[in-house]
Amino acid sequence: MTVTPELIDPTTRYPQPEFDQGAQPGPGQAWGMDPTPDHGEESYRGSGKLTGRRALVTGGDSGIGRAAAIAFAREGADVAISYLPEEQQDADAVIALIEKEGVKALALPGDITDEAFATSLVTKTVEAFGGIDVLVNNAGKQQARESILDISSEQFDETFKTNVYAMFWITKEAVKHLPAGSSIINTTSVQAYQPSPTLVDYASTKATINAFTKALAAQLAEKGIRVNAVAPGPVWTPLQPAGGQPESALPTFGGQTPLGRPGQPAEYGAAYVYLASNDSSYTTGSTLSITGGMPTP
Ligand code: NAD
Ligand code: MG
Repeated sequence: MTVTPELIDPTTRYPQPEFDQGAQPGPGQAWGMDPTPDHGEESYRGSGKLTGRRALVTGGDSGIGRAAAIAFAREGADVAISYLPEEQQDADAVIALIEKEGVKALALPGDITDEAFATSLVTKTVEAFGGIDVLVNNAGKQQARESILDISSEQFDETFKTNVYAMFWITKEAVKHLPAGSSIINTTSVQAYQPSPTLVDYASTKATINAFTKALAAQLAEKGIRVNAVAPGPVWTPLQPAGGQPESALPTFGGQTPLGRPGQPAEYGAAYVYLASNDSSYTTGSTLSITGGMPTP
């Protein structure tokens, strides 16, 4: 007998503004969020789409990266996650969820704005899993500033180092190991298309990620390596209370979207699985927008 899944209204599926969430110190912690984000812990069901794959997910401790890591493990992949040492509590929760699926987990704490450390993520993943065939460049830094005069050179540098340089360093190392059929997925943003006045540096990195994705996809196509991006709209993750938004914007976060609420990380896991798996074998150089209806070209 076929079981018809329940129809779910996307406008009421998850919490809507207003929220009580206050600001968090950086880099932010998923366990400190109210309401608790949904990363698919209870809902994501795998069907063997990534059996035997070896994946590295940067920023895999929380938010969108955590949702991708959980979904990958449930699809049968070994999963390495990178995160900052301050995020160990979030990372421990993800490592436990990965191991529960009977696949290998690898925890890689450290700062990816350091080139040597960023590069070592790939070599450690290859050592632990015997190779790598999925790379998700997802770690990101976002600090809202009212004026360009408030963006220090240090912030500008850290934002580009985290969002752009680390992606470049990690990808460059990974390309030495990725076999035909493997997949690179970069997390960009609706900010690449609709930049907020308070996110001049961050939005610029996200436009860069789109161009990097398209150029590299064209370059690596002949090797059978696909390169795509996911462009999230506003998502309920620690990035936002940890300085990504001014504190005054947190109560109404996501309310500007046509669906009237922020996305939850759980609404992203399947997109990363799609782009990592053979299901998307004719998809490269594309950016998949998941924005709650905010227009992207
Ligand atoms: P998140 O805070 O859960 O994840 C970001 C992760 O980046 C952190 O967990 C951290 O581990 C990692 N990171 C940051 N700086 C680092 C550094 N120097 N070294 C190592 N790791 C570092 O938030 P998220 O929203 O899930 O962010 C994931 C991606 O999604 C980011 O690229 C972000 O720009 C993008 N994004 C988020 C939203 C949103 O509204 N939350 C919207 C569009 C795009
Ligand atoms: Mg985190």
